Amino acid sequence: MIERAQNLLIDADDTLWENNIYYERVIREVLALLEKTGADASRFRAVLDETERQRIPFSGYGTVNFTRSLVDTFRRFLPANADPVLPEKVEQLSLAILRHPVEIFPEVPETLEYLSGRHMLYLVTKGDLQEQERKISDSNLRGYFLGVEILAEKNSQAYSMLLERLRLNPIRTWMIGNSPRSDINPALAAGMSAVFIPHEHTWTLENEESMSHPGLIELHAFSDLRRRF
Ligand SMILES: [Mg+2]
Repeated sequence: MIERAQNLLIDADDTLWENNIYYERVIREVLALLEKTGADASRFRAVLDETERQRIPFSGYGTVNFTRSLVDTFRRFLPANADPVLPEKVEQLSLAILRHPVEIFPEVPETLEYLSGRHMLYLVTKGDLQEQERKISDSNLRGYFLGVEILAEKNSQAYSMLLERLRLNPIRTWMIGNSPRSDINPALAAGMSAVFIPHEHTWTLENEESMSHPGLIELHAFSDLRRRF
């Protein structure tokens, strides 16, 4: 149990609430649509992932950018004689994610209530500004955090700049999240400690070998933070 007040930087998507499952669901539906047209869709997922990987550094994250990659990839696989309204159908399916209700994980409000009484909490997420703000507002969790940071990318440089801007001592600062690539490895590289809370449906582009590090703790669920902090 860590008694002294710490700075806890907490990820949002797939740490406080569901996120990636909506994209996985849409991809499954789109694959089914494509297969119905008789297209060979065996490489669809690989091509989609690659399209996103190439596009994100220029266009960023978020549902609108995902939708562009998805529709473009869909068109590449679509047979010439297929129904021309299908790409628009795919677009609508995907953009519906923007309106999906926020599904908060069990015991998240209670855990934030407890943690905010003992430590300094900051919400640190990445992605599209408007989309993230909508979710933060709909979650009703904003009040537990001293600050909200929506970054374009979560790499070690971004974390170092954030520590400097918020004047946080990395020795007493933790990044808490589900993504080895965005939450854990770059935070450790920036000199912080980290808490890894895996989510079984983490986005494939977030997967990366976790660093083995003395400052790294792994927990099963968000509510387990109460036992450590
Ligand atoms: Mg996350």
